[in-house]
Amino acid sequence: MATYKEVIKTYSRQLKDITHIPQKEVEILLLSIVKQNVIWLHINYNEQCTCEAELNKLVEKRATHYPIEYITSRASFYGEVFNVQDGVLIPRPETEILVEKAEAILKTIDSPKIIEIGTGSGIISVMLALLIDDISIIAVDINDKALELAKSNAIKHGVEDKITFIKSDLYNEISNDEKFDMCVSNPPYIADNFKLERNVMYEPSNALFGGNRGDELLENIITQTANRNIKYLYCEMGYDQKKPLTKFINQFNIKELEFYEDLAKLDRGFTLEFKQ
Ligand code: GLN
Repeated sequence: MATYKEVIKTYSRQLKDITHIPQKEVEILLLSIVKQNVIWLHINYNEQCTCEAELNKLVEKRATHYPIEYITSRASFYGEVFNVQDGVLIPRPETEILVEKAEAILKTIDSPKIIEIGTGSGIISVMLALLIDDISIIAVDINDKALELAKSNAIKHGVEDKITFIKSDLYNEISNDEKFDMCVSNPPYIADNFKLERNVMYEPSNALFGGNRGDELLENIITQTANRNIKYLYCEMGYDQKKPLTKFINQFNIKELEFYEDLAKLDRGFTLEFKQ
């Protein structure tokens, strides 16, 4: 038998072409098996590893580019840990910016009521529910698996009373009588023919692709949000959609439109206030 330290070193080699943090990833996989944290690992580095066979299986799976978050069923977002599951989009760090921007404006509204379109794992709604005391949220998705997962995340974080999950394609199942202060969405916005990186190919296409051009769903969300007289619309978008979306949005009665960039300095989303 080898020590944890030796095993980590050996298996890191198998992931060197898959990730720029092979050792870290092997440690994460190992810890997900022994259900311990990194402090435990440091204390036990020189002990005999008793789970090499299991680790081997997980490393082999990861070596096919299968996302580590699907293997461990967890992902971090906004400093919190969320359940994730195969068949539902993995949270991305850039979406934290959308949460931050939404939080800033929602804090200025009394008992805000919002709708999230395409809630996926529920990260945006759950985070906003954690950040804003008196918020109430309707979170919709077309994917049953996503809705189940999002519910589990709301329960995990103790905010299930603030969020109603509904199976709906955009606003289809939401009555026109429901009034909202904001719509927030990180919808599928990638063009159908875009060549994805290998790890992303394991994620559900209905969470990634937005149509021929990519921004078709965004256009629908903008139109329907305008028709419902919702004041704010905050969305994530593709890096090349600022120009076409500016043109599209300018058909409406706009009070303010701002675009924001992600950490890589790519255009990544917009915040929009309609004239009421
Ligand atoms: N709202 C979820 C997220 O931001 C899901 C988005 C999606 O599936 N397109 O991760």
